[in-house]
Order: sequence, then C-alpha cells, then structure tokens
Amino acid sequence: MTRDRSDKLLDIAKRRGFFWQASAIHGAIAGFYDYAHLGAALKRKWENEWRNYFLSLDDNYYEIAVSQIMPEEVFRASGHLESFTDPIIQCKQCKTIHRADHVISDKLDGHFEGISLEKMNELIKKHKLVCDKCGGDLAEVGILNMMFPLEIGTGKLRRTGYLSPETAQGAYINFKYEFEALRRKLPLGLAIIGKAFRNEISPRNLLIRMREFTQAELQIFFDPDTITEHPDFESVKDYKLRMFPAKNREANRIDDMTCQEVVDRLGIPRFYAYHLAVIQKFYLEHLGLPREKFRYKELHGDEKAFYNKYHWDIELYLPSVGGFTEVAGCHYRTDHDLGGHQKVSGQSMEVNMEGKKFVPHVQELSFGVDRNILALFELALEQEKERVVMRFPRKVSPFDAGLFPLVNKDGLPERTRNIQAALKKAGFQVFYDASGSIGRRYRRIDEVGIACGITVDHQTLEDDTVTLRDRDSMKQIRVKVEELPKVMDDFLNGKGLEHLGVVIK
Ligand SMILES: [Zn+2]
Repeated sequence: MTRDRSDKLLDIAKRRGFFWQASAIHGAIAGFYDYAHLGAALKRKWENEWRNYFLSLDDNYYEIAVSQIMPEEVFRASGHLESFTDPIIQCKQCKTIHRADHVISDKLDGHFEGISLEKMNELIKKHKLVCDKCGGDLAEVGILNMMFPLEIGTGKLRRTGYLSPETAQGAYINFKYEFEALRRKLPLGLAIIGKAFRNEISPRNLLIRMREFTQAELQIFFDPDTITEHPDFESVKDYKLRMFPAKNREANRIDDMTCQEVVDRLGIPRFYAYHLAVIQKFYLEHLGLPREKFRYKELHGDEKAFYNKYHWDIELYLPSVGGFTEVAGCHYRTDHDLGGHQKVSGQSMEVNMEGKKFVPHVQELSFGVDRNILALFELALEQEKERVVMRFPRKVSPFDAGLFPLVNKDGLPERTRNIQAALKKAGFQVFYDASGSIGRRYRRIDEVGIACGITVDHQTLEDDTVTLRDRDSMKQIRVKVEELPKVMDDFLNGKGLEHLGVVIK
C-alpha cells in the first residue's frame, strides 16, 4: 500500500529530523511541511548544486530574487486568473469538498486529469460515485481558482494581489529590464529559487503536492529561429536519454535514445533536446542517482498546458508515492508568456536583434525542490543487514563529516576540536560527537546519511593522521590532517576512497 509506505517514510523523516508537518502543535493543516535541521541542510545543498550546475551552462544566465506577492494584472497576463483552476465537488451530506477528478480516478481505471466538467458529471452519475468519507450523494462539479488572494494596502490605494503560484512569472515580468541591463544578448537565462503557493483541494503524497512549496526554475529567452540548433549540441548528440514517449504508455516501455535519435525520430528540435541531455546529466552524473530510477515522460495533448509545444516531465521512481513521479519539467512555452504580459501591460516585449524584431520564446527548466528532496530521501534510504543507512549523493549529504575523538581522554577531544575548527573554517559542515562507542557513533551518522566519519585516535598524536571512513563502503583510509580539506573535497565530489589514500585492512 502506497499509504502505508508514505506514512512510514514520514515517520522516519520525523524521528531523524528531516521534515514534518508544519504547525503541528496547533493542529497541522494538510499540504504544509517544515524542514528540520537535517532536511534544511539537504535542501540548501541541493539548491546550491542546482544553482551552480544550471547557471554555468551559459555566461548569460543569472539568478534573480523576486517578490512572492504580485498584483492581479500579472495573473491576468499569465492566464492564471482564468484557468488556474481545479474541478471540485461537494458532498451533499457531510459537506466535504473533493477534487472531482480524484473522486473519479480513485474508483475508475483510466486517465481523467483535464477532462471537461460535463464529462465528469456524466461519469459520476453513470457510475453512481459517492463521497468516500460518508457515502453521501455528491452535488454538481464546480471550479475553484487555486491561487491565494490578498488585499494589499487599505482604503483608496487598496489593490488585489495573489501569492505567486509559480516562480516563473517573476522572470517574465523582469525580462524587459534584465535584457537592457545585460546589454541585449540572447539567449538570456533568468533563474529563480523561490516559494510558490497553491490552494490545493487535496494536498497529498508528502512533499509532492503541497500548498506552499519551493521551486527552482530557469527561464531561457531565445530567438525562435534558432530552435533547430544549439552551439553545444555536438557534445551531447551521442548521449543516451531514457525516453518514455506517450505512444509507449500501453507497452510501458522506456526507450534508450541518443539525443540525435530524439531529434531524428521524435521530431524534437536540437535546442530542446540539448536541455533534455543536461537535465538528465544533472540527475545521473552530477548527483549520481541510479539510471533505472529516472525517465522522461511525454505528456499527452490534453495533459499539458495548451501553450507548451514540447512538454516532457522528469520522473523519478518513488514507491512511497505510487511509482514514477514528476519532480521536474522541460517546457518549450513559445511566446505565450511575454506575449501575455505585453498585451495586458501595454508595454512592448519585443527585442530588436540587428534589425530583426520579435518577442523572444521561452524554454523553461522547472524543478519542484521539495519533490526532489523527497526523492533524495526515499532513494537514499536502505535497510542493510546490520545497519540502516541513507546513501545520499555525497555532495548533498546534510553534513560533510562526523568528527569523533576515539576516547574522551588523553587530549583526543581537544585535538578533535582543533580539527573541527579548521574544517569549519575551510567551509565544511562537520558534526562533533563524543558520546557512546565509536561503532555506535558511526551507526548514528550512517542513519542520517552523513558522508563520512573522521576519527582522531592515539596515532593522531604521534603522526598527525586521522582515519576517514566512507559511509557507503564502510572502508577507511588514514589521512594527514593538513591534507584533510583537499581529500574531503575530492571525496565529496565523488572520488573513490582507494584513490585518496591507502585503504586500511
Ligand atoms: Zn460526505
């Protein structure tokens, strides 16, 4: 049962200090989670990896930071005011409001997201679907806008605003100014890591469907005439992508296809295919997640937003929330966004590139940060024979190292504190622990996925070396204290222990 698995996962997350429901002491509201000390560290590290990786793709990509409350006009231009809605249905008896498509999909086989209200009413009547809470009859299907409205200011100056339901709009409304400030070059990339808010009717699946969440998005503005090329395409043309096209759904088959084959056989432009490659490399090579847990899923025509010309979801295999689950998306949004803001604001979004005037198109790389954190958490968790271990990619482990004096005497604690101070100064997140046997201390850091353990022992006092133990293999090497920062850096970037020192037998 998915439900049991997700309850179990939440229980582990809570006990170890990763995440839990927000405001729990006052009665939690569904869809809000707080990150505890380890979860917050994991999230911050993932965000930094994302930032460094995607911003380095091009010299003209930058991060910006934007307001999360925006005036109504922004969402008239984006289309959210009119169409960012969910179908809802109320129980006549207990008055609970359900998501109409969930009422249907929970009981019937098939795909129901995006079907018309008439069709939903028809299916509910035909199959005599009732409230799953009380068995009562259901009313007619209605719609509800998912944005959180706000009144900003007071009196005459009062304006209606909304908590932003996606970070993307922040990039679109700033494009015009950034394009000028950055001296009119395309492609121009604007990245935002920020909060987004959606009044979901039925938040579910832990960090997957939340009401307040974090997104990491890169909006790339480019000349649509250049979509058939990318200057770095050669470097990825033979790279194999894990593709799950819509036509493969029935057979449930994933195809390994090179970028060139994706262009030739699926008719996807090179500019878009290049971005599929860099995203997959981020997951499989940069973070080192297992290949078989990753796939690109193509969305059917009626599943994707009408303005997305190409839309493939990045999915990771997460049994606790039902299998392959969307954690990110690669969207070619055409000129829908800048066009909409141009129309509503009356300000031109056109650029003039050597006499050619056009509204730039947008390639969006969109990541749900919390979804990615849940994925890291679930994929890391392993129950081995003699221990529980969280195998986070070393780069994003909540702490870089646990630091231990072998015994609490003979000057070892003092020497350990010295090393701790030096490592902290060098920018590492280290965790000091002197209680219990050394074996127990190793188990404790394995359980929360700290990348390695460093132990100061009597030999340290003689030759100034410490042991470094790898969480995953449990193997150890001896390292000179003065070389520790360099060795740690290599280790965290994925270098094998055997290349960093002599493995202790
Ligand atoms: Zn009911």
